[in-house]
Amino acid sequence: MGWDFCTEPEFQEKLDWMDNFVRERVEPLDIAFPDPAAPYDRRDPRLRALTQPLKEEVKRRGLWACHLGPELGGPGYGQIKLALMNEILGRSQWAPTIFGCQAPDSGNAEILAAYGTEEQKQRYLAPLLAGDIVSCFAMTEPQGGSDPSGFRCRAFRDGDQWVLEGEKYFASHADLAAFLIVMAVTNRDVPIHRGASMFLVPADTPGLTIVRRAGLGTEALGVGHHCLLRFENCRVPADHLLGQEGEGFAIAQTRLGGGRIHHAMRTVAVAKKALQMMCERALSRKVQGESLASKQLVQEMIADSFVQLEQFRLLVLYTAWHIDQGHLDRARLLIAAAKIQMAEVLHDVVRRAIQLHGALGCSNELPLMRWWLAVPVMGIADGPTEVHKVTVARQLLKQYTAYVGPWPPEFLPLQLEHARRRLGLDGETPS
Ligand SMILES: Cc1cc2nc3c(=O)[nH]c(=O)nc-3n(C[C@H](O)[C@H](O)[C@H](O)COP(=O)(O)OP(=O)(O)OC[C@H]3O[C@@H](n4cnc5c(N)ncnc54)[C@H](O)[C@@H]3O)c2cc1C
Repeated sequence: MGWDFCTEPEFQEKLDWMDNFVRERVEPLDIAFPDPAAPYDRRDPRLRALTQPLKEEVKRRGLWACHLGPELGGPGYGQIKLALMNEILGRSQWAPTIFGCQAPDSGNAEILAAYGTEEQKQRYLAPLLAGDIVSCFAMTEPQGGSDPSGFRCRAFRDGDQWVLEGEKYFASHADLAAFLIVMAVTNRDVPIHRGASMFLVPADTPGLTIVRRAGLGTEALGVGHHCLLRFENCRVPADHLLGQEGEGFAIAQTRLGGGRIHHAMRTVAVAKKALQMMCERALSRKVQGESLASKQLVQEMIADSFVQLEQFRLLVLYTAWHIDQGHLDRARLLIAAAKIQMAEVLHDVVRRAIQLHGALGCSNELPLMRWWLAVPVMGIADGPTEVHKVTVARQLLKQYTAYVGPWPPEFLPLQLEHARRRLGLDGETPS
């Protein structure tokens, strides 16, 4: 019997250790250094001094880079265990960095491991895996992100070099990265999914400029780390093409699939925390002489949040299980479903948590508004909800066929005819 919802006791011990470690040692970093870019900043010696011992501790416990297999220095736990771990890590901005599994470095490391040369692995992959540098993934362009057929940034071969020309937008942390992985069009004569390639571009390559840095939400103009990049006669050696020419999207798909489900795993953590806050508030706050928890409208908010969270968590774990089983088509469908649900669950649960906290919920004195800002991000980054809905619907529709004629197979008059024939009731008058 293959269905089992239990966690092995030895792994539960690791989760318990993580839970305590994140609460006691990592979450204080979230409070003291709340800038969302701080976990990506390797230049600040004070931050390095504070975080290095924590990373060492995680490594000693064998919990570093848990998304990776042993060949890359991770324990190769698989996605189910990673999901359970991310349910803890996701409540902290800093925790993924302290545990060596933050995006986009997690996916970029896998690309470099699979397609980099030995020299590139030594120069970039080794320090990336050690957590000494960070990287950037640049695909979106100013004129379009979700529809890659609009991409214009191109690369062409000139002798033993590739030359990149064009712009990329919302390249997160490009200003803090040691290298970028860039998607560029290399053949305009074929559909983009076969005409784009991926390149390793060291951050100090001449011809690469950071034009502007955008922030999120209410950050002041000019503050932020989501960069508009310009490539002008930006030259990299021929071996900086990752994989084969035209393979860019095939490579990106592996990477984005992993990234999406990891975000979903971490979203479970945020929604859990918001539900916890909602319940504590309901029990603590009095209105009209009784606690909020005794109001049925509040109880409904709590119950609805619990149901949504549990459904979402099960979908995420089920998706993780399919990935671990190597059921790639099924996993792709479920990753898209989880990506859709992630933004909806976060929206509904955080919204209710803010509502129950009143003015305090709207303030900058609780983390709730920060999570609220993450709602549209979850529905847009790594492809908007609409595109994932199209993916889900198309994959499902492939499993069915059209019926002939005007009546669906469930048309009851026809079914009655069949049933009567099967049961040998043909001669009898219908009752
Ligand atoms: C916080 C954050 C970090 C990011 N980091 C990176 C990064 O590091 N690297 C990178 O390359 N990109 C990054 N992105 C960009 C992200 O991948 C794109 O925003 C996303 O792919 C959507 O592209 P777009 O913004 O150009 O929106 P558009 O493609 O212009 O789409 C806008 C809207 O149109 C609608 N829409 C689009 N397609 C369809 C459709 N088929 N059917 C119906 N409606 C549709 C959706 O509502 C969509 O939100 C980041 C984005 C965010 C918010």
